[in-house]
Amino acid sequence: MPNTSPFSLSGKTALVAGASRGIGLAIARETAAAGAHVILAARSTEKLQMEVDAIKALGYSAEAMSLDVADNASIDAAAAKLPPIDILHNVAGTNVRKRFTDFTQEEYDRIMQTNLHGIVRLTRLVGKKMVERGQGGKIINIGSLMSIQGLPYLAVYAMTKSALWGLTRVLAAEWAKHNIQVNCIAPGFIITDLNRKMWEPAHMKEWLKGAQADPRAGTPEDVAPLAVFLSSPGSGYINGQCIAVDGGYSTTRVWPFEP
Ligand code: NAP
Repeated sequence: MPNTSPFSLSGKTALVAGASRGIGLAIARETAAAGAHVILAARSTEKLQMEVDAIKALGYSAEAMSLDVADNASIDAAAAKLPPIDILHNVAGTNVRKRFTDFTQEEYDRIMQTNLHGIVRLTRLVGKKMVERGQGGKIINIGSLMSIQGLPYLAVYAMTKSALWGLTRVLAAEWAKHNIQVNCIAPGFIITDLNRKMWEPAHMKEWLKGAQADPRAGTPEDVAPLAVFLSSPGSGYINGQCIAVDGGYSTTRVWPFEP
């Protein structure tokens, strides 16, 4: 009997760009568990294969694909090999934190290419086929709190993540008539390899306690369920949104007042 649950991804094929660890890996695991065939793509192919084997050992369906979003030839080669894609999770990203005036041209170009230009190229190639195929689809862009607000020393990263949020809104408008929903997730402070060292000092964790209602830092597993929902039939009327998964950071504060 076909699975008609609004949360089921049964029969769908998903590409997770940036799936070797962190948020992308959590999304890949949960997407497979929801019933999709998942293509885990990134540069670390051995790690990807290990993760694919682990997913398959649980009885789910997955494969690995080499993809470097900082390399146009790699993006084109991966896109040419892809089967028809129903769900595209754009997760690959990198960051350098420093004063705006200290960024080198090399750092600027690398962050721009990885977080923005490469993702744009991949989305163009995958999205074109999604439109031509005429069976709808889902695109989930992993933005950031820096898509919607500013913190010091994150200028180039914030430029890329703000642009992804802009792209999300326009593609949502442009492709709605093809039944393709395009949404953005803005993860808050999620401990991964990207920022583990930055969160080590006690004063960083202390700061978080006053900055958001839920004082803990998040995990990739906090983000993945929303990504799965946004790729499921149940989210068919959610389009062009940026949804924060941030323990309330973007909307709440705590204060010392007690009634
Ligand atoms: P992570 O653990 O460092 O994972 C980054 C992922 O991106 C890895 O799978 C990596 O795979 C892939 N990647 C990096 N450069 C790539 C390239 N050139 N080509 C293909 N894949 C590439 O970091 P994360 O925290 O999970 O970050 C995932 C996404 O969430 C990023 O876009 C990040 O900006 C965003 N985000 C994270 C946080 C947070 O607090 N952690 C908050 C907001 C947004 P390979 O190295 O194997 O290629």
